[in-house]
Amino acid sequence: MKLVLLGVSGAGKGTQAKNIIKRYNLEHISTGAILREHIRQKTPIGLKIRDGMDAGQLVDDDLIISIVKEIVAQPELKNGYILDGFPRTLEQAQEFNNFERIDLAVYVKVDDKIVIDRLTGRLECDTCAQMYHVKSFPPKVEGVCDHCGHKLVQREDDKAETVKERLRIFHELTDPVIDYYKQLGTLFTVSGEGDADIVTSAIIEQLDSLV
Ligand code: AMP
Repeated sequence: MKLVLLGVSGAGKGTQAKNIIKRYNLEHISTGAILREHIRQKTPIGLKIRDGMDAGQLVDDDLIISIVKEIVAQPELKNGYILDGFPRTLEQAQEFNNFERIDLAVYVKVDDKIVIDRLTGRLECDTCAQMYHVKSFPPKVEGVCDHCGHKLVQREDDKAETVKERLRIFHELTDPVIDYYKQLGTLFTVSGEGDADIVTSAIIEQLDSLV
């Protein structure tokens, strides 16, 4: 099964992806996580994209398309995958459609105000990348990762100004991707505002009807 997960950062795509891959034995491909890893490791790609990403800008279509093209060609993915964070522009979606056919694009829809609240309270472990939220999912000890004991930090792109910029970019560049999949007849929209388990159940119900 090949799936695309659409939604603004903070819609809960990461959580949904984790729940769904378990059930269908899929691989989780998060383009944001891949790019952040480049930055962390200071690779040539990481050095090139760091400032733009910190400011909430998208990386170049050509770059992200070539990264995704290489990943989805890997034989380990034969059972299928969830692409989380890609495609984010119409050009990415159209180009992707030239080399891959997905079964479904799942759009996790959340009101902008809720997204702002979720993202600006989000914390990430600087070592193992586990996510937390100051209100809804706090660590046991403030500022410390429950899993590995390392420091929790706010992602540069989760600062309030940047979050607003990311929302603006999403509506300008990614809303057309949602329309694109709607026209292809492969879009499933689910509200991401409720409890994460309820959102997962709604997605699974839809996916079960495909298999
Ligand atoms: P995410 O973790 O999905 O919120 O992505 C974090 C950041 O990675 C985004 O704000 C972009 O700068 C970059 N990024 C991730 N996926 C893409 C993509 N498909 N196209 C362009 N930039 C991306």
